Amino acid sequence: MRNRVNVLGIQFINTSFMGMVKNIREQILKECKTFIVTANPEIVMYANEDKEYMKIIQEADYVVPDGSGILLASKRLKQPLQERITGYDLMMELLKEANDENWSIYFLGGKEEVNIKAVNRIQEQFPKVNIIGRHHGYFSLDDEKVPNEIRSLKPDLVFVALGFPRQEQWIYRHYNTFEKGVFIGVGGSVDVLAGTVKRAPQFWQKIQLEWLYRLLQQPSRWRRMLALPKFLLKVLKTKQ
Ligand code: UDP
Repeated sequence: MRNRVNVLGIQFINTSFMGMVKNIREQILKECKTFIVTANPEIVMYANEDKEYMKIIQEADYVVPDGSGILLASKRLKQPLQERITGYDLMMELLKEANDENWSIYFLGGKEEVNIKAVNRIQEQFPKVNIIGRHHGYFSLDDEKVPNEIRSLKPDLVFVALGFPRQEQWIYRHYNTFEKGVFIGVGGSVDVLAGTVKRAPQFWQKIQLEWLYRLLQQPSRWRRMLALPKFLLKVLKTKQ
């Protein structure tokens, strides 16, 4: 595909942030079911180690580059991606659109109190967004309660914040049973929205050190974040 860039086996869409928002808007207006992955280097590395998960990511309609490591890799592979498209920014922009367009949303994931806080924040900030359902993210992947609810409510947009790999596994497992909706894995964005975790200030994002800011905020993530140097090393070893 012309507008995709392959980074370690994953086809990233090569578009601008607003270009991606436009794609999603069109899908919603056409009521076309869509699966979106916001992939950072951790996700790419995990997919490279887990065949099942790789298959799931490859089935997605769009994989967007969430993380400056992915941008760096695409440059090194001489197919530079246009822009970083983070799950959080995409979610906020889509909420803005949902506010203008009266789209309905379902908000899934996070601990119960975090989920409630996030939904309250959305309602405060975007009073015209039609939140038709919400649920915390602690249940088995096979549990039919939430999928049943989504099947009957038919929301335009479903934000799925179960962390990776669970959010993509959950979407994939139930996807065929949904009639419509844009399903997007947004990971830790629910914590940022609820205010339990702080997003790195613009300065840290600009100097491409958002990962360091995140590490300083949640030092327990250090082991998981080793994926980043491993990812960069693997990219360096890839033939151009
Ligand atoms: N989470 C969830 N269900 C689970 C595992 C995680 O709802 O079974 C939530 C968790 O409470 C947090 C969010 O998913 O709010 C993101 O988790 P994490 O930081 O581990 O994921 P990442 O941001 O790395 O994708």
